[in-house]
Amino acid sequence: MKAKDNKHRIKCPNCNSSPTFQRFNCDEFQIYFCKKCLNGFTYPVPKNIGQYYNDSYWIPKGFLGILKKTMYHLFQLRRKYWIMDFLKKGRILDVGAGEAIFSKFLNKNFEATSLDLPSAKIQNPDVIKTDFLTWKPKIKFDAVVFWESLEHTVSPHEYIKKAASILNDGGYLFVEYPRADCLESHIFKRFWYHLDPPRHLSHLTPKGLEKILTRSKFRSISHSGVPAFEYTITGFIASTLNLFPSRPIDFFKDSNNSIFLILLFPLIIISTFVEICFFIVGQSPIYLTVAKK
Ligand SMILES: [Zn+2]
Repeated sequence: MKAKDNKHRIKCPNCNSSPTFQRFNCDEFQIYFCKKCLNGFTYPVPKNIGQYYNDSYWIPKGFLGILKKTMYHLFQLRRKYWIMDFLKKGRILDVGAGEAIFSKFLNKNFEATSLDLPSAKIQNPDVIKTDFLTWKPKIKFDAVVFWESLEHTVSPHEYIKKAASILNDGGYLFVEYPRADCLESHIFKRFWYHLDPPRHLSHLTPKGLEKILTRSKFRSISHSGVPAFEYTITGFIASTLNLFPSRPIDFFKDSNNSIFLILLFPLIIISTFVEICFFIVGQSPIYLTVAKK
């Protein structure tokens, strides 16, 4: 059945209502938005989502891989300072932690627990591989963080509700995510890299996230664009390449190609300039939302 035919029957996974509309058609997958809770979602949700994560998603390869890994390590520092703006010590739970790099940046006043999916190809034995929604920790936490992970879930509402249940009173929730209603998403539309279906199953907006957080009794909710250049610069390059019908992005994936660096260099310069401008005017594609229980 065509998505157009059943658009009035597709229910929002966050509020279970159906005032949804199709925003983008990305071939196999559609991006819908809910008029009630102001967030988007990918439809349909594949049965085996694991097949859409290749090995290089977890362990980057080639020149791009090394660059990506170095930048991802470096930019963990910003997350550490966000935490320290609100907390001087305590227990931190990192949901969707990957190799738990973030925990290594925290000082000894913090005790970190790192979780990821049972299907995640992670080598670090300290990462607990479990389903967060059914996980039953024996302790409560002072902060729960979702660094670029909440958009990988079908129902952010369920994850926020679970986070609220295992936070101490006065504890904090931190969510870093691609902002689905930013200027860049309006420019690139279905070609916007951060839509990334079906790996990104939810498409969050600050107003939509605030609605979800309020339902779980969070307060003191704040939103801000963040200088997440490890995501934004590569995202702008990839979105630009997505515009070309011949998919030159496939060419760029072969980072051992001898012309690769020559072609990539001007794109990096342009993308860096554009992303700095977006950040300055409050239109960074990556946002941070902080809320207190
Ligand atoms: Zn909804």
